[in-house]
Amino acid sequence: MIKSEVHIHTTYGDGLNTPEEMVKAAIKKGYTLLGFSEHSPIPGEKWAMKEKDEPLYRAEIAELKEKYKDRITVLCGIEQDSFSDLPKEPYDYMIASVHGVEKGRRIWDVDASIEQMEDLISLFSGSPMNLAEAYFEEVSKVLEKTHGDIIGHFDLINKWEKIHPFFSIDHPRYRAAAEGAVKALIPYGVPFEVNTGAIARGYRASAYPVNYVMRAIHERGGDMILSSDCHDAEKLGIGFEDALKRIRAAGFERLTVRTATGFDYVDINKV
Ligand SMILES: [Zn+2]
Ligand SMILES: [Zn+2]
Repeated sequence: MIKSEVHIHTTYGDGLNTPEEMVKAAIKKGYTLLGFSEHSPIPGEKWAMKEKDEPLYRAEIAELKEKYKDRITVLCGIEQDSFSDLPKEPYDYMIASVHGVEKGRRIWDVDASIEQMEDLISLFSGSPMNLAEAYFEEVSKVLEKTHGDIIGHFDLINKWEKIHPFFSIDHPRYRAAAEGAVKALIPYGVPFEVNTGAIARGYRASAYPVNYVMRAIHERGGDMILSSDCHDAEKLGIGFEDALKRIRAAGFERLTVRTATGFDYVDINKV
């Protein structure tokens, strides 16, 4: 089983646990590496890290890195939102994520609530497909805007599928928008995340992205990395076994992993 991951949230953002609680949970699960990726600051967004807290976040993770160095490798990353300013100093890595679309001079999160999604769709002439196209257009630019090292939860817009499906994901327009974003991102050579976070929170039955997106990534020579986008220490690594089965079924033979020094691959049939 995979014993490392780099998409972790804490009380610096919308996570439930302190960084140290997360490190202890990871050691307990036998992890060899844990990377923190707090949400980059966005003014007015409660779930994002406050700009004034960013130096404290860096300092606290640096302390944990040192304190636990004999037991686990700790990394300090960031989940860089497509609408955030770029960080002033480098992080160990960046996860490039889209959480919303810009419409009417404001940013609308697609993962905040069902009510907000309904309001947003009404701004797109009541057409969920118009919204899906705008969302995947933003996703297709996420690496150009953030220079990230991992593409986070590619189809977050489909978060509500289990409780309130807004999209028919097999609709030709939805599919063309999603596959168009895959095509735009492949040339960067950056892994796409298989993200099990919405399972932990009860919104989805399976990890992002959907199967045909995984296959499209594979067919175009892309790679995948596994994360639980963990906001709760008790749910670290949730859904990894099922996600690995889906990655194998999509045809991948290797999986990207983060090591202490950079990105590497493991044979997916040996994990
Ligand atoms: Zn995210
Ligand atoms: Zn996240």
